[in-house]
Amino acid sequence: MSNTSKIPFLDLVSPHVQLEEELVAVFRSALRTAGFIGGPAVEGFERDFAAFCDARHCVGVSSGTDALRFALIAAGVESGDVVITVPNTFIATTEAISQSGALPDFVDVDERTYTMDPEKLREYIRTQCIVNRETGRLMHLRLKRPVTAIVPVHLYGQMADMDPLMELAERYKLIVIEDACQAHGAEYFSKRENRWRKAGSMGHAAGFSFYPGKNLGACGEAGAATTNDLAVAQKMRMLRDHGQAKKYYHDVEGYNGRLDAIQAGILSVKLRHLAEWNEQRRAAALRYDELFASAEGVIVPYKPEWSRPVYHLYVIRVEDRVAMQNELSDAGIGTGIHYPVPLHLQKAYEGFGYKQGDFPVTERVSAEILSLPMFPQLTSQQAREVAGKVLAAKIGATQ
Ligand SMILES: *Cc1c(COP(=O)(O)O)cnc(C)c1O
Repeated sequence: MSNTSKIPFLDLVSPHVQLEEELVAVFRSALRTAGFIGGPAVEGFERDFAAFCDARHCVGVSSGTDALRFALIAAGVESGDVVITVPNTFIATTEAISQSGALPDFVDVDERTYTMDPEKLREYIRTQCIVNRETGRLMHLRLKRPVTAIVPVHLYGQMADMDPLMELAERYKLIVIEDACQAHGAEYFSKRENRWRKAGSMGHAAGFSFYPGKNLGACGEAGAATTNDLAVAQKMRMLRDHGQAKKYYHDVEGYNGRLDAIQAGILSVKLRHLAEWNEQRRAAALRYDELFASAEGVIVPYKPEWSRPVYHLYVIRVEDRVAMQNELSDAGIGTGIHYPVPLHLQKAYEGFGYKQGDFPVTERVSAEILSLPMFPQLTSQQAREVAGKVLAAKIGATQ
């Protein structure tokens, strides 16, 4: 780094400069074969990414949103179902649910992990649903619709507390679709199974995004769905390709949701570096943790012993978030807010009738979170500078 104090929120240029020759070779080879859609590059990446996730199958698609939508439909969510997720996520989570024909509904998150609170899900089932005696399935009391799936979101690179969620899902025959769009390589220690599990390997299926800023990013739009169920994988392959398993023979109406060969080739090159990049993110997070260790009023990311996060984002909580963000910005330090408006309070969902106070944890947290610069190439010196500015702003605010 130069001696200017500009620290970006995210540096997408350095890794691409570093890999430029390899990435250009991918493009050149695609040009010379004119193999732009599907083919060996896509299949090769799918094999490698499935292995990376400890999942049996991977289906490359055109975005994380498509991955989630195809996963929901292929795993059995039907039009008119209710699908439960959390309100503190990117809107793509609920878009995918709506686009599968289902109705999204929410349970609040745990105040420390910011991911789906299993107790809140238990309470939702107890107070808002009845169990159908014949089928053993859940029916929503007020909505008079079947509740068929949950979508836990592995937020900021940390997996949701999956054991109790999986237990509830098994008891009530709920489909589990992991939103792993921010969690490539994250791990969860399952006490039930007494082993570490990778994001994308636990639910019936999972969606990953390769949007450029994600831990594994394409040079454009891309995504993938993983599953251990061959039938689900086959359905997702059909859904991404106009519902056909054989050209021009359409078993169902599908979508145009394929993964480009060029993006797949690029992702294969970058996948070889992902484990190392995730380690570098962990090192940067540890550095931040240490720098904030004795700071009052700065809540750092909570890391339970069952979690090995990959720090897609490093999110702190401070009371006066607006002032803090302005001071960092004045110092040339980029930050972000993920996310400022909970989904239940978005204009797009006005029609659902939610109100302020419905999901208090999410609402409280969303007013205080601030995402600090986080990317593999973040140096110790940069982390120190960022932390120094955060602490100085904190002291300034209390004087
Ligand atoms: C990025 C993201 C998505 C959507 O991925 P796209 O590739 O942009 O469609 C979905 N859910 C979460 C939590 C995300 O962060």
